[in-house]
Amino acid sequence: MSAEHKLPHEVAVHENLSNEQMRTNLTTAMHILQKNRLKVIDDKFEDWQGLRARAKQAKNNALMSLDECLLEFEKNATKNGMHVHWASSDTDACEIIYQIMMEKKANKILKGKSMASEEIGLNHYLEKKGLKAVETDLGELVLQLDEDTPVHIVVPAIHRNRYQIGQIFKDKLGASLESEPEKLNAIAREHLRNQFEDLKIGLSGVNFAISEQGAIWLIENEGNGRMCTTASDIHIALCGIEKVMQSFEDVATMVHLLTPSATGQFIPTYNNIITGPRKNGDLDGPKEVHIVLFDHNRSRMLANKNYYEALRCIRCGACMNFCPVYDKIGGHTYQTTYPGPIGEVISPNLFGIDKTGDILSFCSLCGCCSEVCPVKIPLADLIRTLRSNKAGQGEQKLLGDENIHHNKAESFAMRNFQMAATNGWLWRFSLGNAHYFNWAVQGLKNTLPVIKKWSEFKDLPSIKTDLYKEVQKLEGVSYE
Ligand code: SF4
Ligand code: SF4
Repeated sequence: MSAEHKLPHEVAVHENLSNEQMRTNLTTAMHILQKNRLKVIDDKFEDWQGLRARAKQAKNNALMSLDECLLEFEKNATKNGMHVHWASSDTDACEIIYQIMMEKKANKILKGKSMASEEIGLNHYLEKKGLKAVETDLGELVLQLDEDTPVHIVVPAIHRNRYQIGQIFKDKLGASLESEPEKLNAIAREHLRNQFEDLKIGLSGVNFAISEQGAIWLIENEGNGRMCTTASDIHIALCGIEKVMQSFEDVATMVHLLTPSATGQFIPTYNNIITGPRKNGDLDGPKEVHIVLFDHNRSRMLANKNYYEALRCIRCGACMNFCPVYDKIGGHTYQTTYPGPIGEVISPNLFGIDKTGDILSFCSLCGCCSEVCPVKIPLADLIRTLRSNKAGQGEQKLLGDENIHHNKAESFAMRNFQMAATNGWLWRFSLGNAHYFNWAVQGLKNTLPVIKKWSEFKDLPSIKTDLYKEVQKLEGVSYE
């Protein structure tokens, strides 16, 4: 599964930091996405903050009544002629899709872009059974050809520039070497048209599901998603349970926020609202629609008063576009399906804090992600709280917590640090006298991992602690 660690995280950090091409590609792309987002919000929205507040409320309402929403969705989707399947784990979801393929005698599926399918490790699961999942999203296609993994949840191949993509198409598709976007698109289009010709089963993710209508809403820019959902005989939609909302109006509010936050577009190129299979007289559309509603630890997250807020996520990617750590180390360093700020929050919850807890250190707590998140998820606060969990001090245990070995000496040192850092007098005293204890730091560094890395590059400095008095004078306040 994609959450399995392949490298120790510090090795992955060093490797990716020294990949200058990747850093240049990523930083350039992130700056463009940032600029686009700011411009569209300035130009097109009178009350962006009001819209964010409404979206947060709508999503919270859906989460607070998720059990009812899900049952209502199942009832109405079934009435519309769709088949609704329930999967508790990632493996259950893969198995349901595999069984549908077996029943329909299909040895391949064509996929629109779906982070949910990455999360459950669908490609890998089908490959092990001798079946194939073919990517049709341009970025995902590039990655599949190059045996690479997504670096970003919205623009998965953003770390590749057009020259690299031209080379991949030449090597893997036998195309002529091109670097012009139009020519690269033409190569991809021709390759995919051939794939679509014998399309039996198409698979997509779901951006939102609407319980009152029993419908699903898909957003995309390339048209490949619409091909997968309408040109196939059977459409399978993979939907995390938190995607279900109550009304069309609630979902419309979310859609208004999604594309401006993701790519800086005012509206997406394609909005696909699917209400069931092809009906008599319809010109196109699948004969069967299957919705796989999967949990994969989301209900556990919903029951956690600290982390349920992250289930509001609409996977726009804005938090990673603005994260000063993500754009330096890139998504691969996280070695989990969801990188960046939202990945730091949901990965420990979905995959286990024992497997993914290391990524919590990829954060300076600057708070930028919380500022830009369209559904107001307090990401930086949640990352800080997760660090408490990782240190064995969380109020509610997380998945995998029992497998974490808490170093007693480290916990003792961190408790004392917390005491000093939350008491003004003690903090100034500690800073003023810390340099006397360099000998102890050097002696303890093999016992306390937290000191080991830090002390490779630093000594405890001698700090002039009466500086605060000058600040007090300037600001006219007392910090005593
Ligand atoms: S708070 Fe952390 S995760 Fe969020 S933007 Fe800043 S560095 Fe990135
Ligand atoms: S956490 Fe917020 S900003 Fe990040 S992907 Fe989710 S909705 Fe977008």
